[in-house]
Amino acid sequence: MEYCYDCGTKLTIKFLEHEGDIPFCPKCNKFVFPIFSTAVSMVIVNKDKTKTLFVKQYGTGKNRLVAGYVNKGESAEECLYRELMEEMGVKPLEIKPQKTLYFEKSNTLLINYLVTLESEDVFPNFEIDEYNWYSVDDGTDAIKEASMAKQFYEYFMKNNR
Ligand SMILES: [Zn+2]
Repeated sequence: MEYCYDCGTKLTIKFLEHEGDIPFCPKCNKFVFPIFSTAVSMVIVNKDKTKTLFVKQYGTGKNRLVAGYVNKGESAEECLYRELMEEMGVKPLEIKPQKTLYFEKSNTLLINYLVTLESEDVFPNFEIDEYNWYSVDDGTDAIKEASMAKQFYEYFMKNNR
């Protein structure tokens, strides 16, 4: 970040108590904290946590996690319920926060949840090319081409089985 989002003035660095050196706009006379997007992604499992659900999207043919951007004014949990209903046509039985990762390429903070579904029956919308349930032990291999998703999946395998 180099310029003020409001006025375009080149930012300087100013010390802010309890925060440290923070970018500062001398024209607006205010600190400028970084702006980034927030998205929710989901490791989805069936009720007894023996199977996991991955989807394929955008014609890539690669497994990925169900995910979506958080709207302004929306909580991460609201986003999860909305995206899961939109894309998979179901409500979660249970949700549990796992971990977060920053994705530099899209300047997005990803918040991952473990999502348990009551039933393995899902009703995907047009955004989903294909979906598959895998045994959880096969999950790591099935998601290996998506690096962030793999890190979230491995976290699940280590901590939430
Ligand atoms: Zn400014």
